[in-house]
Amino acid sequence: MTLKVGVIGTGMIGQDHIRRLTQVLSGAEVIAVSDIDGARAAAVAPEGAAVFATAGDLIRSETVEAVVICSWGPAHEEQLLDCIAAGKPVFCEKPLVTTAAAALRVMEAEVAFGRRLVQVGFMRRFDADYRRLKATLDSGTLGAPLMFHSTHRNAAVPEGLYTSDMPLNDTLVHDADISRWLLNDEVRGVEVRVPRRSRRGTELRDPVVVLLHMGSGVLVDVEISVNIAYGYDIRGEVSCEEGTASLPLRPATVIRDIHGVRQLVPADWRGRFIEAYDQEFREWIGAAARGTATGPSTWDGYAATLVADAALKAVESGELQPVRMRDRPSLYSTTLEAPPVTDVSGHALRSRRQQS
Ligand code: NAP
Repeated sequence: MTLKVGVIGTGMIGQDHIRRLTQVLSGAEVIAVSDIDGARAAAVAPEGAAVFATAGDLIRSETVEAVVICSWGPAHEEQLLDCIAAGKPVFCEKPLVTTAAAALRVMEAEVAFGRRLVQVGFMRRFDADYRRLKATLDSGTLGAPLMFHSTHRNAAVPEGLYTSDMPLNDTLVHDADISRWLLNDEVRGVEVRVPRRSRRGTELRDPVVVLLHMGSGVLVDVEISVNIAYGYDIRGEVSCEEGTASLPLRPATVIRDIHGVRQLVPADWRGRFIEAYDQEFREWIGAAARGTATGPSTWDGYAATLVADAALKAVESGELQPVRMRDRPSLYSTTLEAPPVTDVSGHALRSRRQQS
């Protein structure tokens, strides 16, 4: 059976996901699109897809079985609430929403509905390198994690659209989520330091250094540079009691020529995480076809939003800002678990939980 999908927001990532759903993956068909710019939606609509004037019309259409939200963050809350009211599984690009209060409203609606419907676009969890890194940590062979160094660099951000808060309320959510997932832990406090400002960033607070204090005492340092010119460079290294584990550079091909030895750097997120996005949607299609959602949840979106809120306060105060989460509803009890993965030699890596 083919899942009939409607896509809201047909900008950069909306178009990439439409391509993925129509040309790469099986099991889904984009039968409807909508964008605040109707001409843009019409221009990128797959053949035969309906173009809806509003997101609400698309969500309530009887032919649409599941929804993909790729509009900008401030529009997500209303669109998510409409999807939940219609009982339709929904994939929502990060950030889930832009305030903690909005995240709580979405959570309350989903909990009242009684079944998970929302998956948030934290695609790093579907990346094979991050999955191997997590499996290594969970196996316990390196002892307890002590520090995680996370680097998030963009070549540039779209002019005019990106505000000075966005490194903290739009970009940091990826590092916050992957830290929680890798370390099976919650963020309890946030500090932010702003070094000398890059002249390429003009109005932006760029770069920034964020320190996440995890519940276990692990410290996560995050470098966010959103105008670093040379490419999209995502790195991660975890220092543990008996060793370290780090992500490889991607793409991994090493070039040697008369200029020396080098690896290419992806231009943006589309190249670096192309397989992760594909896997993310493979898993989403499977769950949505069963009328539900797995993967990063509303709870995870809420947690990342609280970290972003705390970071915005911390940058103003210059002090450690606490992160206080509400109790976790039982609907979201298992979302920090990793799927089973194998190590490089193909052996299954067992988690500490499985070993004990
Ligand atoms: P974009 O190119 O600006 O596209 C967003 C599109 O949504 C635009 O066409 C915009 O129209 C439209 N839109 C805005 N408000 C809307 C509304 N209320 N209803 C319907 N359409 C609306 O931005 P993008 O880069 O694709 O990003 C979209 C979302 O994906 C953001 O939340 C972003 O953070 C996220 N994202 C995630 C990743 C990832 O790695 N997971 C990567 C990139 C982006 P106008 O241009 O006319 O406003």
